[in-house]
Order: sequence, then structure tokens, then C-alpha cells
Amino acid sequence: MNRNSEDKYRLLFEKASDAIIILEEGRVSELNESAKKLFACSQEEVIGKPITSLIPVSREDLEEILRGEAKRLEIECRRANGTPLEVEISLSKAKIGGKDLLFAFIRDITERKREIKKLLFISIVDPLTGAYNRRYFRKRLEEEIERAKRTEGTFSLIMFDLDNFKEINDKYGHEVGDITIRKVSRVVRERIRKTDIFARWGGEEFFILLPNTDLDGAVKLAEELRDRINQIEIPGGERVTASFGVTSYRPGDTAKDLRTRADSLLYKSKASGKNRISFK
Ligand code: GH3
Ligand code: MG
Ligand code: MG
Repeated sequence: MNRNSEDKYRLLFEKASDAIIILEEGRVSELNESAKKLFACSQEEVIGKPITSLIPVSREDLEEILRGEAKRLEIECRRANGTPLEVEISLSKAKIGGKDLLFAFIRDITERKREIKKLLFISIVDPLTGAYNRRYFRKRLEEEIERAKRTEGTFSLIMFDLDNFKEINDKYGHEVGDITIRKVSRVVRERIRKTDIFARWGGEEFFILLPNTDLDGAVKLAEELRDRINQIEIPGGERVTASFGVTSYRPGDTAKDLRTRADSLLYKSKASGKNRISFK
């Protein structure tokens, strides 16, 4: 390479907006300005250190790259000052002058990842209550059925609907209605387990999916929730009540079978006086 073109490549390396690190025999031999900026470090701090001192690339990935496989990885790491950062790193091997070199092109994806997490959250959670939405519930119910089939295990489903809610809205206004729905959701969320899926099916109608729970356990939980919901007071001093339908997975059940059964049981609770639980 003549002097001119060496200068040109040097400039390209230094001015690249992506961080670039070159490793020789597994250790950092060069890094450009963007890399120093990205990791908030000086040249002296990293030269001669392994790549893992900056980015925790797994041993398996490194071995595969050294065998000649180019890789693009997304990795959580830290700057020299300890602040967290997520990067996309493209690693590839080259042999130059008899030496094994690794080239790492690194891009900061912290912001992109944060946006994706935010969008994912919005796509599965109901904004009023913080409960999961119908779409997510459907998906989890299907997954739970598959799991029950595979493991010959069981799970249960609680469905409930607030009683006489039209009256609450009519008497105290829609806003009080909204606050009440929120309070009910909080009471439920505070009581159930982390592994349970609490979802708003629509309006003031909810499902709770209870993995690894038999009918007996689900009924006990529904009793407790009914009791706790009864203790919620609305501004006029009235108490909130809800009617429940509780059922468990039986081999052969589809998602529709389960939902329909829970819904019929809920209807039975409504028809026989409300503020009660029916199960089967
Ligand atoms: P039932 O005891 O038979 O369930 O009677 P209900 O009056 O509760 O009747 P139903 O469940 O059929 O109707 C629910 C009502 O809840 C309809 C609607 O006015 C109200 N509602 C649904 N979603 C919301 C909401 O997001 N906010 C408020 N404030 N009200 C809602
Ligand atoms: Mg209702
Ligand atoms: Mg309803």
C-alpha cells in the first residue's frame, strides 16, 4: 500500500462513526476515536487487554469467530465509568502479515433497545389498568394449553366481571368508574403470583390465568379476591362486588372451550344473585 492510500485508510478508521476495535492475538491493539468515546476510555486503559474487558463476548462466540465465522451480536456492557450500555457488535477474523486479527465494529443500540422495550410493553399492557391486554392473554392461554399437553399438567382460569357497573357509571360518572376499575386491578395484582397472568378482556371483565394450579386452588384464590374486591369503597360509600367463573384445563380443551366454560360459569353467578363464584 502506498503512503497515500495508507493515510486514507487511517483517516477512514479514525473518523468512522462506528466504534472500531482491532484485536491482535485476542488483545486490543487499536481503537478509533468513536470507540474511545463510546466506552469513555483512553487508549492506555484498554490497549493490550482482552476484548472481554470492554464487551463480555462469550468464550463460545469468540472461539467460533476465531474459527472463521463472522458474527453479529447484541450485548449488554459497561463503560469505563460503570454506566450501562447495549451494543451491536460485528466481529470477523482476518489474517494479515501472518497474524490473526479480529475486527470489531460496534454500534450503540441502547436507545433503540429502550424504544423496543417500551413498544413491547405498550403492545401487551392495557393502559387503564396495567393488566395484560386481550391479545397477550390469548397468546399465553394457547401457550399454557401446549404446556399442559406436553407435561400432562394442569392450570386454571378465573374470569370475573364487576357487578352493576352501569349503575356505578350512571350514578357517579365515568371517571369514578375508571378509578374503580383501576382499584380492582391493583387489588388483584397485589394478591396474585408473579407467574399468574392477569388480563383485561374488555370493559370491566377480566381473566386470570393460573399456571400449575388445580380447580381447588383457583376457587380459594377467587374467594379471596371476591372478598378483597368487596372491601373497595367507591366515593359514594358503596362497595364493589364482582361475579366469578372458575374452571380448570381438561385434556382436549381448546382455548375457546376454556373461555366459554368460564364465561358460562360467570353467567351462572350473575343469574343466581351476583357477588359469587361458580366453578366446574
Ligand atoms: P352485571 O352485573 O350484569 O355485569 O351488570 P353491569 O352493569 O356491570 O353490565 P355489563 O357488565 O354488561 O356492563 C359493563 C358496563 O361497564 C358497561 C360500561 O358502561 C361500563 N364500562 C365498561 N368499560 C368501562 C371503562 O373502561 N370505564 C368505565 N368507567 N366504565 C366501563
Ligand atoms: Mg358487569
Ligand atoms: Mg361486563
